[in-house]
Amino acid sequence: MQSSSISKISLDGREFLVKRDDLIDPYLAGNKYRKLYTLLKTPNAAYHTIISYGGTQSNAMLAIAAMCQKKGWKFLYYSKKMSQTLKTNPNGNYSLALSLGMEHCEIEDEFYKEFIASLRLSMDEKTCIIDQGGADAQAREGLEVLAQEIREQKPDVSALATPSGTGTTALFLALSLPEYKIYTIPCIGDATYLKEQMRSLATIPNNLIILEPKKKYHFAKPYKDFLDIYKKLQNTGIEFDLLYASSMWQELLAQTDENIMYIHSGGVSGNESMLKRYSQKNIR
Ligand SMILES: *Cc1c(COP(=O)(O)O)cnc(C)c1O
Repeated sequence: MQSSSISKISLDGREFLVKRDDLIDPYLAGNKYRKLYTLLKTPNAAYHTIISYGGTQSNAMLAIAAMCQKKGWKFLYYSKKMSQTLKTNPNGNYSLALSLGMEHCEIEDEFYKEFIASLRLSMDEKTCIIDQGGADAQAREGLEVLAQEIREQKPDVSALATPSGTGTTALFLALSLPEYKIYTIPCIGDATYLKEQMRSLATIPNNLIILEPKKKYHFAKPYKDFLDIYKKLQNTGIEFDLLYASSMWQELLAQTDENIMYIHSGGVSGNESMLKRYSQKNIR
């Protein structure tokens, strides 16, 4: 594949570069494409079924659904009980993933943990389980490919930035590019939780810098701060996602002053359902 391009934007009087991983594919883009790279390269005949689990509007879920459609693999996705609203009116990533062939199964909340833990017990060799959010050591190879692209493109920056959910992307990118500082931010839980998640995959290198948000935000909840940044970012001509990008940009603007390249991990297909929640809550 060709390297993803680099755009230049200005924001609050500063210039930033943006690595356009969001443009790789409508649904299988950004860090999800990078994290699924190894599986994408796997011969189609190696598997018949992919199993994963997590939230019903997850970007990872949609990316896996797109991958399975391309590869001719069956995709089984487990979640806790979904909201009545989503059930009666499927929208956003959930309906997109269904349209790509995802088979969805709800598990009663009280049995969920045990059920997920038991998935690996009853598996054959042609079934592959992807842990929630694609937090897997297999993700490393695709991030090394991203690192190699960046090395070849030689952007005039001293640091890169990518927001964290599981931290898989930031961690493997930092390990693959020791010559750059990698800024990240915990979007799910706090920095301590993020470090724990990362340590379960590899040792955290010194060039990875976790910025702490000044305020406490809960993942996937609507906040006026995030909507304000989202709108400001829209003026750059590039759309960013509301869950991760807003909080990363907020802290980059507040806590850094050097030349930075932001890795755009896509996720904008989730904005439709998030913006609906903003307007339901009268946040504008
Ligand atoms: C999934 C996702 C992340 C988080 O990636 P991790 O590797 O889990 O840290 C960040 N940004 C976007 C847009 C995502 O979809």
